[in-house]
Amino acid sequence: MRALRRFTVRAQLPGPLALLQTLATNLRWTWHAPTRELFASLDPQAWSACGQDPVRLLGEIPTSRLDELAADEAIAATVRERADELEAYLAGPRWYQEEAGDDPALPDAVAYFSMEFGVSEVLPNYSGGLGVLAGDHLKAASDLGVPLVAVGLLYRSGYFRQSLSLDGWQLEHYPAIDPQGLPLQLLTTGGDHGGDPLLVEVAMPGDRTLAARVWVARVGRVPLLLLDSDIEENEPDLRGVTDRLYGGDQDHRIQQEILIGVGGVRAVRAFCATTGHPTPEVFHTNEGHAGFLGLERIRELCTGSAVAANGAGPSSSSPVTASGSGLDFDEALAAIRAGTVFTTHTPVPAGIDRFGLDLVRHYLTDRLLPGLPADRLLALGSEENPETFNMAHMGLRLAQRANGVSRLHGQVSRDMFGGMWAGFDRDEVPIGSVTNGVHGHTWEATQVTELLGDPPPDRSAHPPTEVSDADLWALRNTLRSRLVDEVRRRVRAAWLERGASEPELGWTDHVFDSDVLTVGFARRVPTYKRLTLMLRDPDRLRGLLLDPHRPVQLIVAGKSHPADDGGKALIQQIVRFADDAGVRHRIVFLPDYDMSMARYLYWGCDVWLNNPLRPLEACGTSGMKSALNGGLNLSIRDGWWDEFYDGGNGWAIPTADGVEDPTRRDDLEANALYELISTQVAPAFYDRTDGVPTRWVEMVRHTLSTLRPKVQATRMVREYVQDWYVPAARAAADVTGSDYAAARDIAQYRARLNKAWNHVRITGVDASGLPETPVVGSPMTVRAGVDLAGLEPSDVTVEAVVGRVDDTDELAGPITAAMEHRGDDSWEVAVPLPHAGLTGYTVRVLPRHPHLSSSAELAKIVLAG
Ligand SMILES: *Cc1c(COP(=O)(O)O)cnc(C)c1O
Repeated sequence: MRALRRFTVRAQLPGPLALLQTLATNLRWTWHAPTRELFASLDPQAWSACGQDPVRLLGEIPTSRLDELAADEAIAATVRERADELEAYLAGPRWYQEEAGDDPALPDAVAYFSMEFGVSEVLPNYSGGLGVLAGDHLKAASDLGVPLVAVGLLYRSGYFRQSLSLDGWQLEHYPAIDPQGLPLQLLTTGGDHGGDPLLVEVAMPGDRTLAARVWVARVGRVPLLLLDSDIEENEPDLRGVTDRLYGGDQDHRIQQEILIGVGGVRAVRAFCATTGHPTPEVFHTNEGHAGFLGLERIRELCTGSAVAANGAGPSSSSPVTASGSGLDFDEALAAIRAGTVFTTHTPVPAGIDRFGLDLVRHYLTDRLLPGLPADRLLALGSEENPETFNMAHMGLRLAQRANGVSRLHGQVSRDMFGGMWAGFDRDEVPIGSVTNGVHGHTWEATQVTELLGDPPPDRSAHPPTEVSDADLWALRNTLRSRLVDEVRRRVRAAWLERGASEPELGWTDHVFDSDVLTVGFARRVPTYKRLTLMLRDPDRLRGLLLDPHRPVQLIVAGKSHPADDGGKALIQQIVRFADDAGVRHRIVFLPDYDMSMARYLYWGCDVWLNNPLRPLEACGTSGMKSALNGGLNLSIRDGWWDEFYDGGNGWAIPTADGVEDPTRRDDLEANALYELISTQVAPAFYDRTDGVPTRWVEMVRHTLSTLRPKVQATRMVREYVQDWYVPAARAAADVTGSDYAAARDIAQYRARLNKAWNHVRITGVDASGLPETPVVGSPMTVRAGVDLAGLEPSDVTVEAVVGRVDDTDELAGPITAAMEHRGDDSWEVAVPLPHAGLTGYTVRVLPRHPHLSSSAELAKIVLAG
């Protein structure tokens, strides 16, 4: 008999065990091994049967066993000890409180918005890299004591679970979650003191209202607010707004994005008001999806109120924004931009979130955002195509600070969005970069941490000098063996799911070999990641797998977006190849790549393979997780690997970057991959001295000592704090102080610029005072006449730009020198000639205002000529 509905009843724990509930509901256990060991010790079998989920575990241990445990002094003592540790972790000062300094600009709180969060497999609220990165960001922020409050959506079905049909086609399932069975707490009107569930509301077209309750997950010190529309107050279709991640049509998607953006700000306000949590000074949006948050913050400042929860409507008593009352749109825009950070993750223009302009107009109503002029809102998302609204462009316009996620991706983003800064050189486009990192205690095997200790908090090397080659090699062998066991278990389960019967599956006990060089390739399956590059020459791949002396075994995993049949066909190609009885002991495709599988791969693979089409991998983080465990990367120099590959920590697959013909490019790069494996990777792994591959271990040691500190998420979050959050908080304080005087000033300034800028002209340029034969260092005086069209000389910077030129007269690596105003329309500066050779110069006019982060910020420039 099937149940009609299901729900979860939480366990009643006997007194001495009551604190287990606290330990189970703060997700810190996911990266705290001693707490996990405690849970496992309660009932090892139940622990593994319930997928290492403490909330489920506590529900599944029989009452009799609980009573037994409660009577066990040692258990009770351990429970107390772990709970005390957690308490100390949550309350004590950490890096942010101790070492970040007492800069008055350190924000009291930072809000971090993301469409997905991969904190743990017990909270399946992510699809891949973006979500896992967001989860790691929260954990590292918690470890550092950075006061983050995170905002996302709670999906009824999360992302899909993948299985395979008999012929290797991807099948999708969407198991529904029950929030009551997750480590979540409902935000209530009384905060921590009960009351009714608090509801956040956003207006929908047609006089409708979308309401959401707010679940709070505790990620160590960081509260994660998850909005959930599946409540009786909503009309049936609106209940489905948070049904699944990245599913549905454009309407569904914009509804989700309005909920997370506009509703998310309202949830933060409600959370702060009911719990006393400090108000965020900085808003960080992780990718463009939550960008509507900026519009809600503008609305708060224009109407002078936060929207209270439970439908009370705008309330003028809100302490949050009352002083901003009465700003106009431009003043409010200036005010919120200062404290907003936008991170872009997409190096592919087609990957950017876009909506039809009509759809956006339909949703961004005066009921949703009272008092905000529709044309101004729509202009924020304008792009090349006049019919579409671009969420990334809006992100860049609403944030004074923006970044990509690796050094190379910073460059790619400056190119990709360069059109918004026409007239500027690529390197002047104000988009920086912070290279992603991964959370050490989440992704590193405990054996690694036990052997090496934690890496130093900065990027410096951490050589495991006391550890012998034999010990390092033994560690790698242990991790590989554990992976092989897991592969066998999963291959068997996958075949049962595909319809095979037990008696046919004897062979699965013998797939893989714990002494064979193990290569992992696991990732989502968009085209640019080239899942099937390794199959370019199947015979050659077969040769590598079956080499009698130096065999290779290969694990492949990854999900294709449900709507992407092309991706599913690639998976099918791999599966069909791997199904062949001649190679199936050396290559497997493991279905349902997720965090619980991924960690075995990162621990156990000797080599982590990545062969994207450069430069389409914004960063990539799986290779970093492998490196934490002494895995060696074998990768195209894209994303993070372009920056961190040093010749001794793995291999760079040569890229045929400039080759136009994609087929030929694939051939060249696949060939280089086979060549590297057979001539370098495999020999280094199999050449042994006294049973130890000395060269290999040397590379493992080098990876652990130099790469492990650099790939940490704590390194990333520290950079965000120091280079992004603190400057943003300082800028926000500057523009909001004295009743938003500076915000008003910026708005007036921008209005003046907008009026005059098209008429600003450089009327003449000349350079004099050059000797007959100029030498490096001799001064060149550049003079210019500038018609400011009514602007004040103090409103602008007039710059001389001097650099090398080629036949096209394009200035390369120029230097700039601010010119002095010499009365009337005349400007002048003396520039020492910066280099020998063919030299050119020009003059340009840029906006100048004390509250601009750079002179490129407003994307305005007037060039001579
Ligand atoms: C780290 C991780 C990713 C992202 O890896 P990429 O290298 O960016 O493809 C995706 N899925 C899971 C489960 C991960 O742990």
